[in-house]
Amino acid sequence: MGTAKDYSNQTTPTWCPGCGDFSVLRSLQAAAAHLDIEPHNLAVVSGIGCSGRISGYMNAYGFHSIHGRSLPVAQSIKLVNPKLTVVASGGDGDGFAIGTAHTIHAFRRNIDMTYIVMNNQIYGLTKGHTSPLSQTGFVTKSTPYGSIETPIKPGILALAAGATFVAQGFSAYQDQLVDIIIKAIQHKGFSFINVFSPCVTFNKTNTYQWFRDHLVNLDDEPNHAIGDFQKAMNKYIETDGLFTGILYQNTNPDYYSKLPGERGTSVVEQDLDIRHKFDELME
Ligand code: SF4
Ligand code: MG
Repeated sequence: MGTAKDYSNQTTPTWCPGCGDFSVLRSLQAAAAHLDIEPHNLAVVSGIGCSGRISGYMNAYGFHSIHGRSLPVAQSIKLVNPKLTVVASGGDGDGFAIGTAHTIHAFRRNIDMTYIVMNNQIYGLTKGHTSPLSQTGFVTKSTPYGSIETPIKPGILALAAGATFVAQGFSAYQDQLVDIIIKAIQHKGFSFINVFSPCVTFNKTNTYQWFRDHLVNLDDEPNHAIGDFQKAMNKYIETDGLFTGILYQNTNPDYYSKLPGERGTSVVEQDLDIRHKFDELME
């Protein structure tokens, strides 16, 4: 088994010192090492934003896509070559503003891959303006009198859209985050992890300390039943979405296993097969 360092490509991240995204990167690398995924069998796809840089820091296949479009790219990669472990990542703006439609349909489509949202409740790359996940009243340059909008609740949206794995992590709780990413990758279907990943430069409200003061750890609740949809909804509402751990998981079949015809055969293999048959006919 390798170590997390085996999944680093030695590129120095340009994130601000203390940015929560460092922990997400290290956690993904540690999870990949734990699962012993060969770097050539791992594809990391990202969107645009500070978080989007993560695909460039991994020793794996990387694809830095365009804003809100990491999921179409990642799902396509998985469909073409299902043997790859595919991880998409992006920020809260990427997944829940410009990419919202893709996110909702990925939840219900249930392709076997993992989506990590590095949620700092702000647009960091564009120097700090309100995102769809910012709290009501949040003051930024784009909302100088405070946001008057209601934030999206990503976990509720995921559950309502039919997601089969819904979890949340926090950059400061790295051991738990590694464990969640391992279980998300092992999940046979679309796994969604909303990670509270503080932006230390622009979000002076939702700080590391703020999360430590507000987050409930579901791992401390042995009676939390992750297969119970109603309880998952109730827990989300009860905590106002401020929790870490696996909220919900079911065993609904993933997209590939529902395809008609030969199951689990990648488009690449089918294409090769057809070409071999064609060559035989031409001989
Ligand atoms: Fe991280 Fe915020 Fe800096 Fe972007 S601006 S790298 S999100 S701390
Ligand atoms: Mg953001």
